[in-house]
Amino acid sequence: MNDAERQALGDAKPDVRCDRERLEQRHRELGFERELGLELARVERERSTDDVVGWAGGGGARDARREQDRGSDRRSHGATLACALLVVATGCHLDIGQIDGAFYDWDHRAVHCGVDLDADTDNGSGSIDSALDRAADKGEVAELYAHHPTVTIPDSTIEYVLAGAQQRGLTFYTYEDLADPETPAGPGLALSFDDTSVDDWVATLPLFEQYAAHVTFFVSRYRYLSDAQHAELHTLADAGNAIEAHTVLHLRGPEYVEDHGLDAYMNDEIMPSISALRDEGFPVNAFAYPFGARTTDTDKAILGTVKVLRSVSFTWNVVASPCPR
Ligand SMILES: [Zn+2]
Repeated sequence: MNDAERQALGDAKPDVRCDRERLEQRHRELGFERELGLELARVERERSTDDVVGWAGGGGARDARREQDRGSDRRSHGATLACALLVVATGCHLDIGQIDGAFYDWDHRAVHCGVDLDADTDNGSGSIDSALDRAADKGEVAELYAHHPTVTIPDSTIEYVLAGAQQRGLTFYTYEDLADPETPAGPGLALSFDDTSVDDWVATLPLFEQYAAHVTFFVSRYRYLSDAQHAELHTLADAGNAIEAHTVLHLRGPEYVEDHGLDAYMNDEIMPSISALRDEGFPVNAFAYPFGARTTDTDKAILGTVKVLRSVSFTWNVVASPCPR
């Protein structure tokens, strides 16, 4: 990455933290508290509806599926757009280094939380640097995730993260590593990619290999991927990356449990997504919640099958974080 590319990512240091009081006061001043609430509610509704309607039929042309995938990628992060607007309005800088839940301190926790790096979260180079600096300084593992290289996150951002980790001497951990109690503790980065963008994950392999990086891919909708994409998952695993589960239809767990019960959630969304991958020879020791949406009951049920879970930590304060810490 050259200086121009670094500059393009924005070199602002995270000198101002988006503390809750400051944000809330600014919301009141701007008078769009209600609009924000409505926008978030709309996004939430669209997510679950589109996920079901867009995928329940299966089949369909591959190109159409990929287009739906891209649309879903965009929608699933629509809520962060509202956050970005807030950040612009308040002038705050996001600072991942301040989000305790996004750092693994080797306490053998079962529920991990990542921070989203996709472009619409507005985590620029300063915020990324703060995450990598904290990991290096404290001997922790920064947990970061994204979705679709070149669509939801530019390759330049991925490279900025990988190069920054390498420069600081961080170890690249997969969630399979974090699930293994024998893994030696140390400062590191657990980078993961969610959902279904298998073709572009494979296209990013040379970049991962350039930095000797190992990452985790949390796969949803496995049954709707093509045979070629199923084979590509093996290509990713053969390069030292972990292939882990992310549900069948990418539905929100707590709501599904409320509507259909915990057993139905396990039988419909969780177990088939794990067994499909295990049948293909992937060990599957980790599971990531769609939208990070979880409860202690879902944690307990899923931890009967895998060793670690990944939820999310939000970098903004206007929505309750699903992270338990
Ligand atoms: Zn997802």
